[in-house]
Amino acid sequence: MDTPTDVLVLGAGYAGLACALRLRQRAPQLAITVVDARAAFVERIRLHQRAAGQTIPQHPLPALLAGTGIEFVQARAHDLDAPGRALHTDVGVMRFDRLVIATGSTGTTTVPGAREHAITIADLAGAEAFAAAFARLREGDPVCVVGGGPTSLELVTELAATRPELHYALVCAGTLGESWLAASALRKLQARLDALRITVVSRTAIARVEAGRLVDGHGGALPFALCGWTAGMRAQAPGALAQHDDASARLRTDACLRAIAAPWISVIGDAGRPEPDLGADAAMSCRLALPAGIHAAENLAAQAQGRAPQPWRIRDSLRCMSLGRDVGLVQLHHADGSLRAVSLGGAAGAFVKERIVRFTTWFLRRERDRARRLSRALPPAPRRAMVGAA
Ligand SMILES: Cc1cc2nc3c(=O)[nH]c(=O)nc-3n(C[C@H](O)[C@H](O)[C@H](O)COP(=O)(O)OP(=O)(O)OC[C@H]3O[C@@H](n4cnc5c(N)ncnc54)[C@H](O)[C@@H]3O)c2cc1C
Repeated sequence: MDTPTDVLVLGAGYAGLACALRLRQRAPQLAITVVDARAAFVERIRLHQRAAGQTIPQHPLPALLAGTGIEFVQARAHDLDAPGRALHTDVGVMRFDRLVIATGSTGTTTVPGAREHAITIADLAGAEAFAAAFARLREGDPVCVVGGGPTSLELVTELAATRPELHYALVCAGTLGESWLAASALRKLQARLDALRITVVSRTAIARVEAGRLVDGHGGALPFALCGWTAGMRAQAPGALAQHDDASARLRTDACLRAIAAPWISVIGDAGRPEPDLGADAAMSCRLALPAGIHAAENLAAQAQGRAPQPWRIRDSLRCMSLGRDVGLVQLHHADGSLRAVSLGGAAGAFVKERIVRFTTWFLRRERDRARRLSRALPPAPRRAMVGAA
């Protein structure tokens, strides 16, 4: 395969930024361009805080990447010509010899009526819309959160800790925490939900959402003044790379994180799902998006130096979530992602969770600072002969 010279990184989230910043350090001879529809990096793992009305940090991308030798283009990609190595964006066609797709995911609302009557908080716009609606609620109003995963727990507890005068229900199709929390963690979780007076409605699959009520498969109804929808995430890569996972729309990759259908394209973070067994499940998560970005960068740098790319090995040591600002829950894993009996809750859990959230931006800043230091010692990075006709 040809040696990379010109790399386009689509998506400046956790995975894309980690990849671009590490690649700049490892292969400074490459032209690297980061493309994102937004002008700022958003800490998605804080969006439940934004939904509850808190201000969360945003990091302007031009300033974040300044001095690194990486070019930033604000553009939304809407199609991809993989064989022709061309990305179609709202500012024109961008050509590349290597593309890294790091476009993340968004919430899914496939249940009839969910899109119209519920709000997903999977992106900044949704979290802000939710915050505005939450601020308008009056004492005693019912709030429903649908979904049984960590995001639903983080959201409903953040809301209940912020405005305890409202009524909260968490609705999930299965049993809460089943298969991803061990017994000790489940006890801590239940104690926190009880303390916040959150009603858990489990084994209830919502069949449709109507204005002001959730309707289950048996016709039972649950009223709400505001409904947060956190049931499911779906990858959002532009254009059709033939093979993807049906449910999550993630693009399938090999163990080296290259698209099966087009190995000159890497797919990382929520956008991609490695097909081979890499030692643990490649869950859609920030905790795996950062190492995937680093691994893809190391592989591209290796190829630029004529070496073979290496398979990724996933180590998934823990999962943690906030349950409001003062309480957290940390579930420890074996390296393969299976559960350990040990968990951490309460204020200690909150401390660990907040440290891990801060680590993500600290890590990106550290990569940025290293890229900047290196760039000062080098001739200017090659620039992209950029945009063709839109
Ligand atoms: C409320 C909430 C809490 C969470 N908490 C945790 C947690 O505690 N731990 C954890 O591990 N995970 C958590 N997650 C999941 C985590 O946020 C995602 O898995 C992670 O953000 C994925 O990183 P990424 O880099 O793949 O994508 P993202 O961070 O989503 O970044 C994707 C980027 O691509 C850009 N983009 C997308 N499409 C286009 C396009 N067509 N053109 C141009 N740009 C585009 C977007 O603007 C964005 O900047 C949480 C998610 C939510 C919503």
